[in-house]
Amino acid sequence: MAKYIPTIGLEIHAELKTETKMFCDSLNDPNEKHPNTNVCPVCLGHPGTLPVINKKAVEAVLKVGMALNGEIPASSKFDRKNYFYPDLPKGYQISQYDLPLIFGGVLNGVRLTRIHLEEDTGKLAHGADEGGKSVSFVDFNRAGVPLMELVTEPDVKNSDEAVEFAKELQIILRYLGASDADMDRGQMRVEANVSISSGEGPLGTKVEVKNINSFKAVHDAIEYELKRQQEVLESGKKVVQETRGWDENKKATVSQRLKEEAHDYRYFPEPDLPPLDMSKFDLGELKRSIPELPQEKRIRLIEEYKLTPEQAALLTNDKLTVDYFEAAASELKTFIPSAEFQLLFNYFTNDLFGLVSEKGIRIEDLKLTPENFAELVALVMTNKVSSRTAKDLLPRIMENGEDPHEIAEAEGLLQVSDKAQLLLVAKLIMDNNPQAIADYKKGKSSALQFMIGKAMGELKGSGDPAVLQEVFKELLG
Ligand code: ADP
Ligand code: MG
Repeated sequence: MAKYIPTIGLEIHAELKTETKMFCDSLNDPNEKHPNTNVCPVCLGHPGTLPVINKKAVEAVLKVGMALNGEIPASSKFDRKNYFYPDLPKGYQISQYDLPLIFGGVLNGVRLTRIHLEEDTGKLAHGADEGGKSVSFVDFNRAGVPLMELVTEPDVKNSDEAVEFAKELQIILRYLGASDADMDRGQMRVEANVSISSGEGPLGTKVEVKNINSFKAVHDAIEYELKRQQEVLESGKKVVQETRGWDENKKATVSQRLKEEAHDYRYFPEPDLPPLDMSKFDLGELKRSIPELPQEKRIRLIEEYKLTPEQAALLTNDKLTVDYFEAAASELKTFIPSAEFQLLFNYFTNDLFGLVSEKGIRIEDLKLTPENFAELVALVMTNKVSSRTAKDLLPRIMENGEDPHEIAEAEGLLQVSDKAQLLLVAKLIMDNNPQAIADYKKGKSSALQFMIGKAMGELKGSGDPAVLQEVFKELLG
């Protein structure tokens, strides 16, 4: 069987998180439930209206471009892309053709072709009226929402790399505050251009796959398409250049239309908007507003907190999460200057994450401060509370934000690790259990566990088990 080499290029759209739409002051509110609420004559395409460029949207794309090491040209412009569709009230989309905001750049080793800015379309919904007759509805709330499109070179080698690329882009868009980029809400949409070739000679004919609405679908659609194209070639036929859609139910790509060409859209410069002179933007200020990005952050976390790459990756997926961890780590240092961070990491990613996701709380809504969380971990590290007690305390302080040391003290949960105090208890237990001593002397090690258990009972669970064991061993000789 011939061996085929896959080639993949991605086109990713992301709705920008701005107050208002791309060319008018209608609200850009993805949570608006009532259709056709955030609309005005501009985004409804009424005659005689004029678009005005949303500076914040342009700046968001410039930041994304800078973060990905793209180049900003001296000037940029908007163009009209003409086509008819019921969700496009003007009969054209304002987009960018030959002078996008960003040229080049790189992410995960994949070269970027460009990033440009355009407006989103409305949404169609197909259903039935009261009489059961099929009808279609159109909602223009999304019409005119700022949309960036990032296009990669055909550098992606397989479905896993495509997923990794899309995930990393999502994280970066969120770090920059450019987009919420939720795929299941359509805020980030991936199109995959897929081809296979024998590896010698030119690239194969590409197929563009649309309607990909999750990371899993990115993977599945590419895998399906690679296999389909291989089967086409092996049956002696040719792959047709076309647009296909991913059908989530059928788990298959289905032909939608033959590929349209750029000239089909009759692009021309948008006559209602001036060209953009990029020197008018404060690029230095934009650059300074870019936070530390996930890639650098991972390297620093590994170094600073002695985390593994996997642990650092887990933390950096979300900026608020990593910010919380770092705030807690810095507090931990004030409690215990020589502290290591593995225990903090474990309590954070296992226990706190577990509770947070169980209760559906967002990290930004946590009542528990990083300081109190760090203090809880510090109490465990210094043996002042047992890990059992800590795990009981965590849900409580998470709910009410209380100081763990104060609760532990007030409720007698502080662990007794004072040797003299434990010695008294151990002696009492030994006085009352001569049989256990005899058993221990005969070599029955369970007798020691029995006495430690008794002592723990006496101490209501607050004894430090390690110190207790040491004390008994000393007394038993
Ligand atoms: P078109 O003119 O059809 O829009 P472009 O050259 O603009 O094609 O590329 C669109 C996307 O398709 C880009 O992401 C690009 O990397 C990708 N692409 C181009 N050629 C191939 C190919 N042979 N196989 C896979 N992807 C490709
Ligand atoms: Mg193209």
